[in-house]
Amino acid sequence: MYKIEGSTILVTGGAGFIGSHLCDALLGRGAHVVCMDNLSTGKTENLEHALSSEHFVFIEGDVNDKAFLQPIFEKYSFDYVFHYAAVLGVQRVIEQPLLVLDDIAGTRAIMELACEYGIKKVVFSSSSEAYGHMAELPLKEDTGKELSHQTHSTSLYSLVKITSEKILEVYNYNYKIPTCSLRFFNVFGPRQESSSYGFVIGIFIKQILEGKSPVIFGDGYQTRDFIYIDDNINIALRALESEKADGHIVNVGMGRQTTIRDLAERLIDISGKDLKPIFQPAREYEIRYRSPDVTKMQQLLETSIEDNFNENLAKTYEWYQSQQA
Ligand code: NAD
Repeated sequence: MYKIEGSTILVTGGAGFIGSHLCDALLGRGAHVVCMDNLSTGKTENLEHALSSEHFVFIEGDVNDKAFLQPIFEKYSFDYVFHYAAVLGVQRVIEQPLLVLDDIAGTRAIMELACEYGIKKVVFSSSSEAYGHMAELPLKEDTGKELSHQTHSTSLYSLVKITSEKILEVYNYNYKIPTCSLRFFNVFGPRQESSSYGFVIGIFIKQILEGKSPVIFGDGYQTRDFIYIDDNINIALRALESEKADGHIVNVGMGRQTTIRDLAERLIDISGKDLKPIFQPAREYEIRYRSPDVTKMQQLLETSIEDNFNENLAKTYEWYQSQQA
């Protein structure tokens, strides 16, 4: 088992939503954490807690620039890397389609340096987008460690995630660097972006807090799998610790489909406001159904998650509310 306590860990994208929670959790487990972020969507406010720790260092910079990264690897002798930096958000990728492609350079730089500096393990944040429009549900990774083929690229974002997974697989296969790619389904919780570039839960909560009806694109029967940030982080820590996960691609989700209509109604209930969702035409690029098979996650990482969806939605609602005060 890989040991977190006392280790030195690089978290790229650590000032973002998921990365900042990861930094907090790693510090809580006794690691020394170096967070690298270009603050394109991340914020130093997300690091308020981490910055008070003497075991935490923040470095502002571009992870896609290997010349910038090299001296950081040289200085800190990392044990592990969580590579979470990325350009994301459907709207952002549509507006700046080529920007996202630069992230392949980041994965390449991380893996080259991991090889050069003998990093003990690299964990990568992939995405359910790697499945594209695949129709057969639940969406399933390959079961073994063989190079994966169950993907379908529908956007440059998914192409970057699939390519990065493959870069990790090849380094694992040929150079024996332990790696694990985690295919995150929809993560939610405090600190997630709620602008129009953000994600559905934050956007709905923002609309509701402003006394507006949540806007649903299409009939609202499209589904997503929502996982709370604390659960996502616990699984990522298990993925780092577990030798069984080495070389694997693993879905990270609840294995529970929720319609967007149901989500909007739950959030309206939590708010106690007299609102009803309104409907606008469906967006063409949207994937209709998303539901992961989480057997591999449960078996490989020996983990199961308690399903407290409403409670976690309420905690998230309260956090956005506190941000408005
Ligand atoms: P986020 O935008 O809050 O975090 C991404 C972070 O990366 C930001 O802090 C941003 O400033 C930083 N960044 C971007 N490009 C960079 C670069 N070139 N150099 C340094 N820093 C850079 O998003 P998030 O939701 O926290 O996502 C974290 C990871 O999880 C991403 O890789 C994303 O693709 C993946 N993911 C997230 C979800 C989700 O539901 N949020 C789902 C699937 C996959």
